[in-house]
Amino acid sequence: MSMTFNRKLPIPKEIKEMYPLSDEIKAVKAERDREIADVLTGKSKKFILIIGPCSADNEDSVMDYINRLAKVNEQVKDKLVIIPRIYTGKPRTNGMGYKGMLHQPDPAKPEDMLEGIIKIRELHARAIKETHLTCADEMLYTENYRYLSDLLSYVAIGARSVEDQQHRLVASGMECPVGMKNPTSGTLSVMFNSIQAAQAKHTFIYRGWEVVSDGNPLAHAILRGAQNKHGQTIPNYHFEDLKLCADLYAEKGLQNPAIIVDTNHSNSGKQYLEQIRIAKEVLHSMRHSPDDVGKMVKGLMIESYIEDGAQKIEEGVYGKSITDPCLGWEKSEKLILEIANSL
Ligand code: PEP
Ligand code: MN
Repeated sequence: MSMTFNRKLPIPKEIKEMYPLSDEIKAVKAERDREIADVLTGKSKKFILIIGPCSADNEDSVMDYINRLAKVNEQVKDKLVIIPRIYTGKPRTNGMGYKGMLHQPDPAKPEDMLEGIIKIRELHARAIKETHLTCADEMLYTENYRYLSDLLSYVAIGARSVEDQQHRLVASGMECPVGMKNPTSGTLSVMFNSIQAAQAKHTFIYRGWEVVSDGNPLAHAILRGAQNKHGQTIPNYHFEDLKLCADLYAEKGLQNPAIIVDTNHSNSGKQYLEQIRIAKEVLHSMRHSPDDVGKMVKGLMIESYIEDGAQKIEEGVYGKSITDPCLGWEKSEKLILEIANSL
């Protein structure tokens, strides 16, 4: 019962020096960050779509997917801010299974953490270079965040991490908006406590340093549905849920109240096709109550890829999810256009 310290890895600063960003990428990133912040602060009326595969399992198919998104973006960019999901670390319900590109740069080969760090950095950089779209990832492991901190325009704290003190403290020092998911139990107070913690300044230990964070005024809520003790899913995207969340937000005096609705996970019960109906229902709720729900819901998170559904890793179908089931490309493209047209 022990662990072997295999090899010392480069720290984020060293990796950033080994794989630096061009001035062009830095400029694109700064402009995108401003555009996204303007939505979350209410300065812009655009609607955010955080959309893409559950896990970024394969560089070719992920880049193919993001290039398709970039084309659609040209048609909708006056109304939508599209943020592709490049999720490189996957939380597993029982700890087993594919842990993401960070652990396994090739899902068919054994873990290689150094190669993983380099590969996820290259993938995020390549997406910006080819499409001018900066992307989203989940901060699953707090100590890895800074390997990507100069590339990410959006970070989510997952349902299994949102109650964790270290995640909250690191989120308070993040350089981009952070979405706090409701926990798997659905308890909204956990999510709001997490937002409050992330918006405050803290002094804490991070990567062997005493650090001081500024507080993150763009920390906000993501509603992803819940599970009860019998394992049944309890959605939280209906009008009453959004109204409750908006009312609680109003009571708490947090900065920049904002809600993103995750249309998959426990909202769809992973019935991925339901994401289409759920997205439309959320937009209807916003129109129904423009002064609270309509103002506070700032976007959707959608799990989408090239092929419909999900597969086992061994099946090897190009562009089909190996984690949560996703909406395939044709249906996703149609949905994006419908969302933009309805705004
Ligand atoms: C995800 O976004 O793929 C994910 C794992 O989300 P959650 O933390 O809500 O389960
Ligand atoms: Mn998922």
